[in-house]
Amino acid sequence: MKQNKSEITIVGGGPVGLFLGICLSKRGIDCTILEQRAEPVQDSRSLGIHPVSLELFEKLGFVNEFLEKGISIKKGLAHNGKEVLGSINFDELEGPFNFILACPQFYTERILIAKFLELNPEGLISEATVTRIQQTEQEVSCWYQKAGKEYCITSKYIIGCDGKNSLVRKETGILFEGKRYPDTYIMGDFDDNTSFEDQAVVFLPKQGLIESFPLPDNMRRWVVKTDSYIDSPTPNKLADFVKKRIGTDLKGLKSTMISSFGVQSFSAENYFKDRVILCGDASHIVSPIGGQGMNLGWIGAWILATALFKIKMNPEKETEILSDYQKQQTKIVRKASLRAEWNMKMGSKQLFPYFRKILVQLILKTPLKRIALKVFTMKGLY
Ligand SMILES: Cc1cc2nc3c(=O)[nH]c(=O)nc-3n(C[C@H](O)[C@H](O)[C@H](O)COP(=O)(O)OP(=O)(O)OC[C@H]3O[C@@H](n4cnc5c(N)ncnc54)[C@H](O)[C@@H]3O)c2cc1C
Repeated sequence: MKQNKSEITIVGGGPVGLFLGICLSKRGIDCTILEQRAEPVQDSRSLGIHPVSLELFEKLGFVNEFLEKGISIKKGLAHNGKEVLGSINFDELEGPFNFILACPQFYTERILIAKFLELNPEGLISEATVTRIQQTEQEVSCWYQKAGKEYCITSKYIIGCDGKNSLVRKETGILFEGKRYPDTYIMGDFDDNTSFEDQAVVFLPKQGLIESFPLPDNMRRWVVKTDSYIDSPTPNKLADFVKKRIGTDLKGLKSTMISSFGVQSFSAENYFKDRVILCGDASHIVSPIGGQGMNLGWIGAWILATALFKIKMNPEKETEILSDYQKQQTKIVRKASLRAEWNMKMGSKQLFPYFRKILVQLILKTPLKRIALKVFTMKGLY
């Protein structure tokens, strides 16, 4: 078995692990990322990049790479299937990034991998599946399998960025508490045959919510609320819902991704335990409606990298600094979860359609619009 050393080991090279690796490398902290996949994800998956993340990318010097690949959504419409109920202009936001960037996850991961490797050419170990970890007072060891062989890497900290089913969290015995909501959705990407161009549209017909977002390469993402979880989603099933509820016909269009998903909200009991720290979905999951999870992970990674740098300068304050990371993150995640819940309620069938129409108009046509702007763009969370 081969033994290696690294100041920090990050388990999971998804969007959050890669971003954390960049933040640490920029601060001169040595780190190694272990990722079980061979390649970045192949599909569009997480899409919405909020202004707060674009500001972080700018600080780190690579926002332009994202702006070149994504589509800037400057306006959102609320529609009931027959008429526009109201609109919201993100360009009323202050700051240079007054829009939400729609950037498919395969571009996001490729950009982050390239940036991490520029700073740390040997730092990413792919096809490395972590199987167990063990802590002593001073160090933590992590075993992983690669090409049929076992390796061990020892570091001062291990950071679990290994997603919602985190092995790092389970190995450390940190509880993950929360709930599953009854809400279910089907989601797919299709050639764009609408006239909405770069606008996002939320349809609120009485049969249930539909969201529609522009994607690069003249594609559009459709997210449709369903009455129950659809086990074998197909483009035709999604097209049937859309046709019935709002009349738009997606049948026969090229479709590059289709999936079903349910909604969960979970949070780790602690964000660190001795030499193990959690970040991203390994530490919190919020409803995907509102597109905040990946962005929340990036905010957390930024705060954590700052905390680890402070610890390097003041090792005697380790526990105090990590407790602050936990406090700050818990507060941000709680706020984001409440916002996601509000977003889901607005789209729920139970909200009487007439009342919902009045509520949407009230929100989008009165000073309450400023609050809605903040909620939709993750402003004021951090
Ligand atoms: C339908 C849907 C749409 C979404 N849309 C958005 C959106 O628009 N905007 C947004 O902000 N968020 C969105 N999210 C949430 C977002 O997908 C997650 O919050 C984000 O992917 C979390 O990133 P992560 O890096 O923490 O975890 P993950 O993306 O889960 O990455 C974890 C990584 O760890 C690796 N890994 C796991 N176990 C091991 C192991 N034992 N050894 C080595 N490697 C391991 C995995 O291969 C993976 O690469 C959406 C979620 C869903 C379900």
